Amino acid sequence: MEPIASPSRTGTGSPHESGPRTLKNYLGGAWVPAEGAAALDDIDPATGGVSALVPLSGETEVAAAVEAARGAQSAWRATAPQRRARAVMALRESLTRHQDEIAALVTADMGKAIEDARGEVGRGIESVEAATAIPHLLKGENLEGVARGIDVEMVRQPVGVVAAITPFNFPAMIPLWFLPYAIACGNAFILKPSERDPRPSERIFELIDEIPEIPAGVCNLVHGAHDVVNALLDHPGVDAISFVGQASTARYIAERSAASGKRFQALGGAKNSLVVMPDADLDVTVPAIMGTAFGAAGQRCLAGSVAVLVGDSARQDEVRTALVAAAQELSVGSGADPGTDVCPLVGPEARERVVAAVDRATGEGDDLVLDGRGADPGPAGTILGPTILETADFESEVAREELFGPLLTIVRARDLDEALEFVNGSRYGNAGSIFTTSGGAARDYRFGVEAGMLGVNVGVAAPVAWFPFSGWKDSIDGDLHANGTDAVEFYTRKKVVTSRWS
Ligand code: NAD
Repeated sequence: MEPIASPSRTGTGSPHESGPRTLKNYLGGAWVPAEGAAALDDIDPATGGVSALVPLSGETEVAAAVEAARGAQSAWRATAPQRRARAVMALRESLTRHQDEIAALVTADMGKAIEDARGEVGRGIESVEAATAIPHLLKGENLEGVARGIDVEMVRQPVGVVAAITPFNFPAMIPLWFLPYAIACGNAFILKPSERDPRPSERIFELIDEIPEIPAGVCNLVHGAHDVVNALLDHPGVDAISFVGQASTARYIAERSAASGKRFQALGGAKNSLVVMPDADLDVTVPAIMGTAFGAAGQRCLAGSVAVLVGDSARQDEVRTALVAAAQELSVGSGADPGTDVCPLVGPEARERVVAAVDRATGEGDDLVLDGRGADPGPAGTILGPTILETADFESEVAREELFGPLLTIVRARDLDEALEFVNGSRYGNAGSIFTTSGGAARDYRFGVEAGMLGVNVGVAAPVAWFPFSGWKDSIDGDLHANGTDAVEFYTRKKVVTSRWS
C-alpha cells in the first residue's frame, strides 16, 4: 500500500509567546524539540481550547529514537530479569501515585468522563503489574535425554527495538499494554502516541524519566502522525511493531510490516453486538447496555453498539422501551463534570460522521427511536445525545459499520440461532455479550460466537491484564494479542539449544 501523508498542518510549530507550548520528543533520556516541524493543535474536546501543539516529527526524529534505542538495548538486555522487573515495579508505584493527575489529562485531551478516565489509568497500571512477573514469564523449557547424552533447552531472548503506534480512545491505557512488557522482556521501546491526545503519554514519560532503574534510551517517545508511522515502518532498526487503531490502518501496518520483514501485531476496529435473551434480567441488562453503548460516547473498541433483541415481539418491545427510558435519563456534558454519563466526541468531525450516518439511516426508513441530534453540541461542536435506531436490515450501515459514537442500533431475532447468524455475519469479531439467566443459552453463545472477548451478563467484557486482549477476523491482523502471556510471546524470540556433553 502507498503511504498516506500526515493530516493537514494547522499549527505553527513554534511556541507562541503566551500560547500553548509545543510538545517535545523524549529521545535517549532527554526532551528534544522537533526542530522545524509543523504542528497540530491538541484540542480539549469539551471546550475546543488548544492545550498544546503536537509536533509533526518525521524521519529525522525517528532515526534519532532508533539510534538511542539501539544504543541502550544491548546493556538493557544483559540486565538481570529481576532488575528489569524492579524497574517496572518502580513505574507501577509512580503511575499509582499520579493516577488522578494522568486521568485528568485523559479527560482534558480525549474527553471521556473523569471516572472512566480513572478506570482507564487503573487498567493501564494492571498491565504494568502483570509485567512485573517477568522473571517467571520469561522462563524457558527443557527436555533431558532426547538421545544418548543429548539435552534440549529453549530460552527466550528480546526481539530488539520495538515500536508501538496507538489510537486516541485510550491515550493512557493502550501505551501501557505494550511498554511494560516490551522493556521487561529486555527490548528498547519507541512510542508514537495518537496525535489527537498525546499529553497522557507525555506525562507517563516524564515519570519514566524520574526512574533511575530505567536507563536512558530504553523508552523513547516520538510525537507526530502518519510520517512518524511510515518512518518506523521503513526503518531497518525497528524489529517489531505493535499497533492499535482502525481496521483499515491495521491492515496497512500489517502489509507494510510484512513487506519489510518486521514482526507485527495490529489490533483493528469493532462492531460489537449485545444479545438480549427473552429471560434476561432487565435490572442487570439495561444499565449494562447504557454503559457499553454510551460510555466514552461509544468511542471504545469494546462498545456494544448493536442490541439484538431475542424473543417474541411483545418481549422485544418491552426491552426496547426500557432501553429508551434509561437512555433518556443519561446526562450529557463535559467529561470533567463528575455527573456526566455521555461525554463529548473527540472532535467535531467525529460528531458530524455519526450524525451523517443517522441521517442516512432515517432516510432509508430506519426507525429513529431516540434522537440525540438535538442536544446542544457545546462550544467545540462535539456533543451528541444518546441516539437509538432500529433497523430491519441486518446488512445496513448502522448494523455493520463501526461508527464510534453514542449510537445504539436495535435489531430483532427470533431465537439465539438467528441472533448468532446476525452477530457472526460481521466482518469484525472483537467482543460481544449475552444477557440471559440460562446457563445453556450462555454456553451455546460462548461456543458459537465468532469473537475474541465475550461477556456473560457483562456489558464491557475487557479482559484483565493477565489475559490476552484482542478480537478475531478484521479486528486483528497478526496472531498474538496484547497483554498476558501473548505479550511475552510477541516481545521475545525463542532459541533452542541442543547440547551433547560426553
Ligand atoms: P487510527 O487508525 O486513525 O489511528 C491509530 C494510529 O495510527 C494513530 O497513532 C495514527 O497517527 C496512525 N495512523 C492513522 N492513519 C494512518 C495512516 N494512514 N498511515 C499511517 N499512520 C496512520 O485509529 P483512531 O481513530 O485513533 O482509534 C480508534 C480506532 O481504534 C477504532 O477503530 C477502534 O475500534 C480501534 N481500537 C481497537 C482496539 C482493539 O483492541 N482492537 C482498542 C482500541 C481502539
